Amino acid sequence: MKCIFCKKDNTHTKSVEHIIPESLGNYTFILPKGMVCDKCNHYFSIKIEKPFLEQDTIKKLRFTEGIPNKRGKVPPLPIIMPHANNAILKKRITSKGKLESHIFYIPKSNPEIPESKANFLIIPHYSQEIDFKNINQVAKFIAKIAVESLALRFSKTEESYNYFLNNSDFNSIINYVRFGTPQNWKVHIRRIYDSSKKWSDEREENFQIVHESDFLFVDDQIKPKDDEYFYEELFFVVVLWGIEFAINICGPEIDGYINWLKNNDYKSPLYTE
Ligand SMILES: [Zn+2]
Repeated sequence: MKCIFCKKDNTHTKSVEHIIPESLGNYTFILPKGMVCDKCNHYFSIKIEKPFLEQDTIKKLRFTEGIPNKRGKVPPLPIIMPHANNAILKKRITSKGKLESHIFYIPKSNPEIPESKANFLIIPHYSQEIDFKNINQVAKFIAKIAVESLALRFSKTEESYNYFLNNSDFNSIINYVRFGTPQNWKVHIRRIYDSSKKWSDEREENFQIVHESDFLFVDDQIKPKDDEYFYEELFFVVVLWGIEFAINICGPEIDGYINWLKNNDYKSPLYTE
C-alpha cells in the first residue's frame, strides 16, 4: 500500500494514524494501517498536532473537559496564588477513572499583590471564546484531517484508492500539509455549540459530541461534468468540541464557503438536511 502523502510504498508501517489526535478525545476515528507511513505520521505529530494542541484555546479546552493525552495526562493550567511565586493547577485521571485536581505552587511573598488579597486563589475561567494565536498552524492541522478523512472515503476499493493517489487536484493541499509548501491557506472558524453541551438520544441518555465532520460540495456556478468524481468546490467541515472549522480541499480560498453560509442562514452544513 502507498502512503497517501509521500506516495512511497510502505508495507511495514508500525504506527496507527489517528485522523484527529487522541489528545482531543478521539479513540476510534483512525486510518487503516499503511495509508500513512511512519515517517509522515511522525512528521504530523511533531510539526502539526503538537503545536495545535499547545495553543492556549486548546489547552484550556483540554483542561476544562479533562481530556487526557496518550499517557493519561491532562495539560495543566497556570493559576494565580497571591502568596505564591507561581502555581499550576493539574488534573489527572486516577487509576479508578476519577478526575482529581492538584495545586502545585512555590511559596513566596509577592510584593505586587496587596496583603488583603493574600487569601485568594485565582483560577482562570475558560470562556467559550476562540482565540488562536497562530492561524496558519490551525489551517495545517485542519488540512491534515481533511486529507485523511477524504482518503478514508476513497479507501474502500483498490481502484478508488489509486484514483485518490493519482488525483492532481489534491497535490496542492498535500504539499502544504506534508512538505511545508508556503501557502496562506484559509480556515473558517466559529463556535456552533458549547464545548460541554449535553445531547440526548432517543433513550434520553446524555452524551457529549467530541468530533463530527462531513464534506460539502458547492457547484452552483458550473454544471457538473459527466465524471463521477467531479465537483466544483469541495469543502471539509469538522466540529471539535463545538468549534466548527471549514477548509477548501482544492485551493487556499474560503470565499465559496462563506457564500454558502450566507445562502443557508449561517447554519452549519453538519446541521442542515
Ligand atoms: Zn509517507
